[in-house]
Amino acid sequence: AGKMFLPQVVKSARVMKKAVAHLIPWIEAERVAGGGDGSGARKTAGRIVMATAKGDVHDIGKNIVGVVLGCNDYEVIDLGVMVPAARILQTARELGADLIGVSGLITPSLEEMTFVASEMEREGFTIPLLIGGATTSRAHTAVKIEPRYSGPVVHVLDASRAVGVVGALINPATHDEFASATRVDYAELRRERAGRRAREERVPLAAARANRLEIDLGVAAPRPTFLGARTIDDMPLADLIERIDWSPFFATWELKGAYPAILDDRRIGAAARSVLADAQALLRRVEAEGLLHARGVVGFWPAGRTAHDDIELFCDEPRAEALATIHTLRQQMAKPPGRPNMALADFVAPLATGVPDYVGAFAVTAGLGADEAARRFEAAHDDYDAIMIKALADRLAEAFAERLHERVRRELWGYAPGETLTNEDLIAERYQGIRPAPGYPACPDHTEKGVLFDLLEAHARAGIQLTESFAMLPAASVSGYYFWRPESAYFGLGRIGPDQLAEYADRKGIDLATMTRWLAPNLDDDSVAVTAAGARPSRG
Ligand code: SAH
Repeated sequence: AGKMFLPQVVKSARVMKKAVAHLIPWIEAERVAGGGDGSGARKTAGRIVMATAKGDVHDIGKNIVGVVLGCNDYEVIDLGVMVPAARILQTARELGADLIGVSGLITPSLEEMTFVASEMEREGFTIPLLIGGATTSRAHTAVKIEPRYSGPVVHVLDASRAVGVVGALINPATHDEFASATRVDYAELRRERAGRRAREERVPLAAARANRLEIDLGVAAPRPTFLGARTIDDMPLADLIERIDWSPFFATWELKGAYPAILDDRRIGAAARSVLADAQALLRRVEAEGLLHARGVVGFWPAGRTAHDDIELFCDEPRAEALATIHTLRQQMAKPPGRPNMALADFVAPLATGVPDYVGAFAVTAGLGADEAARRFEAAHDDYDAIMIKALADRLAEAFAERLHERVRRELWGYAPGETLTNEDLIAERYQGIRPAPGYPACPDHTEKGVLFDLLEAHARAGIQLTESFAMLPAASVSGYYFWRPESAYFGLGRIGPDQLAEYADRKGIDLATMTRWLAPNLDDDSVAVTAAGARPSRG
């Protein structure tokens, strides 16, 4: 009815958990004294095994769903993050789970979820599989996951829907109807999408390249104040707190609206103010008790683009000694006249012209200490602050990226020394240059994070690691490239053709099958076969 909000649900759960924890010793004592069976076994509404997919580390949404299901009398067995399919299935079998839920944030997790579905089919499971997380969608679930498993597969949009979906699937009176309605719905979605995709026009790679964005090479590239990588370990937390973009924080708690207007919203304003006050109180503890640490690394290199959409980086100024290659992908959708087929490489001067140019990169985290703090809160039966500390670490990492980018423009690269922008301007990105992040729409290939992290020595300098799916660990980390030119802008790659896929795999020196799996979200639906356990993508 829209009368109760997620933060309140999770806070209520905290009261309940703490109270129960307090009472348990007395209940046990009474049971022993009264000669009860001592088993403590109790029938719940159902047993659910949940996990974040292998290679992925993001669990805020999953943890919220877990608490909400717990409030509704379900027994939730949460296996945590980076959980291989085999462990999920084995646990579900051993415990006789009624349902499995898999979550993930980054696109490689989508492939892993498809694998979980195939494995459930292979092992003869029949229980429902729930799919959740930011990059998942009804369409993806319908097209890629549901066809792999003959049991019910349902995409769950957010925590507030989880209870309804789980209830409908667990209740024998509604199970069949809900499962078959979903199946019909997904089949329809597949048909619609196939029709739409068949009508999408795509141009050959060569034609797309000929239609690249032309930058103004007459404008001299500004030289950064230093070349190579530099560690940033002096970013005061107070500085970051000031730069937080609060709107995504409210979205995490399923309160939709832009900050600060959300605080005065007639329906959700009070709930928004309350969760913000809790966040600010926890931020004061973070500062006072040193619960989170921020570290980062930033670098600049002489650079030039090749004829094949690669960006070559060099150690030195005359661009003699090659250092690394950033591989970029080019849009192949048919464009109206005057609209280029973009690739990030377009924002860099061509090597062949001899025109000097530079590219920057960064990786920052504010999540050092976040997992430890969250574990302490969980041990104290406080899921609310356990979730809150991770949500705040995420906000601080984004604020770090924002603050560092500003320093880059004003001082470190210095191409916009006179820039003065408000926090609102920064959030609206009203500045020159961009900082695209590998895994995002302009550069969806997560494996390029490997190149970036080697360049930046991100692990040694900033304590950030990559998982096998190229998720950053700590989860509250942000990385990306810097392009300085006024022409540079974000775009979505869209779907690419087999010509570019093959060439790109070749440029990267990765075999076609592996590259196909990594780029699956940007390929035609039928070009990706099921991933076999033994043939997982490796760090190419
Ligand atoms: N203020 C937001 C910032 C994150 S979203 C927050 O606090 O959460 C904006 C960032 O996403 C950009 O800075 C860029 O790094 C990335 N991004 C957005 N669109 C992109 C695209 N099309 N390609 C690559 N990266 C993109």
